[in-house]
Amino acid sequence: MVGAGYTGLSAALELAARGYRVVVLEAWRAGAGASGRNGGVLGMGQRRDQDELEGWLGHEWARGLWNLALEANALVRERVRRYDIDCDLVDGELHAAHRPRYLDAWNAYAGRLARDYGYDRIRAVGRDEMVAMLGTEAYHGGYLDTGAGHLHPLNLSLGLARAAESHGAVIYERSAVVSYQGGTRAGEPVVVRTAAGSVRADYLVLACNGYLGHLEPTLAPWQMPINNFILATAPLDPALARRINRDNVAVVDSRFVVNYFHLSPDRRLIFGGGENYTTRFPHDLKAFVRRRMLEIYPSLGQVTIDHAWGGTLAITLRRMPHFGRKGHGVWWAQGYSGHGIAMANMGGKLVAEAIMGDAERFDLLARLPHVRFPGGTLLRWPALVAGMLYYSLLDRL
Ligand SMILES: Cc1cc2nc3c(=O)[nH]c(=O)nc-3n(C[C@H](O)[C@H](O)[C@H](O)COP(=O)(O)OP(=O)(O)OC[C@H]3O[C@@H](n4cnc5c(N)ncnc54)[C@H](O)[C@@H]3O)c2cc1C
Repeated sequence: MVGAGYTGLSAALELAARGYRVVVLEAWRAGAGASGRNGGVLGMGQRRDQDELEGWLGHEWARGLWNLALEANALVRERVRRYDIDCDLVDGELHAAHRPRYLDAWNAYAGRLARDYGYDRIRAVGRDEMVAMLGTEAYHGGYLDTGAGHLHPLNLSLGLARAAESHGAVIYERSAVVSYQGGTRAGEPVVVRTAAGSVRADYLVLACNGYLGHLEPTLAPWQMPINNFILATAPLDPALARRINRDNVAVVDSRFVVNYFHLSPDRRLIFGGGENYTTRFPHDLKAFVRRRMLEIYPSLGQVTIDHAWGGTLAITLRRMPHFGRKGHGVWWAQGYSGHGIAMANMGGKLVAEAIMGDAERFDLLARLPHVRFPGGTLLRWPALVAGMLYYSLLDRL
């Protein structure tokens, strides 16, 4: 396993629990990638909605993907319970429309999910109730999904690492993999090298997502690393915390460059928003995210920002995960496109299933007709930046 995020740890856990000898090589620390840095929104469904998936892939395939997403959400909850992972899991995700034009389509979609997929955890939230729930006039209404929720992402990662180790997996931190070879012909082992040593294995899982770098150049055109940023305020006065998020739900808004926020147990506002597409984070991260926070909550102008951080995630052009295999022994799961808490946990489980001989569910994702980013490995950057800037401008309309 290369990478100790949700994907690598989940695959390690599943395989070790079934008696496989598992070694995880992690460049930094377990959970140091996106899995420990994310916004903690445990979403429901795939990153693309079912209408889009049905139009793209047909009803049956789309339903298979919906079922995987349902199971992914349940998998996280089940692991939290079974391994006693203390990660502050709270139910409820509020989708908030920053323009009224989204509301009709959202209502219709909620109705479709209830009717055709039997999913009845969604209810509409009108403008007045939204104001009462969030203490801001920034949103026109939306819907509440009680099947989704939020959690402490790093604690989930560390809990998964402990769970994998409890089944015998061995995690080597500060062990960046610099190259690998082999594994493409049946019976041929894979040899994985770090600066200090090597591991010989029957199977290799590349679970590097946005941090893949140059390790496997053939995967680069299929995904694009982008950076996203979050801040944590100082603990808020209880009355203020209740006013800006009465029920402590996860809030995700309708912007293309999405804002997402919730409260921590010690009443900090954890606010995520803003991204960039370079190899560097903005110089003043607190100011970068605070600007977006103040657009939603101008009244928080005097609140101290204690922390700000960023992480790198991998998106695909189709905004669906990119799974695959090379020959007999090399597998990958990546490109969750910002929707990875549930799906990367599931991705690791599906890779493990496939290695154990049943690739049917893995192939539901591996067969997706993905499209490469135009421009190849080097020139895809300008095309991505132009595209992202165009869509982020639409947020202003
Ligand atoms: C700021 C931010 C906010 C997000 N918010 C949400 C959210 O609210 N909800 C949601 O569902 N998703 C969210 N995501 C996405 C989600 O975090 C990811 O999809 C998910 O964590 C991917 O898990 P992973 O294990 O595949 O990758 P990662 O967690 O990134 O793990 C990859 C690991 O591979 C290691 N690695 C890479 N190369 C090597 C190498 N050569 N040798 C050894 N190790 C290596 C890295 O160090 C890293 O630890 C967010 C992401 C970011 C960055």
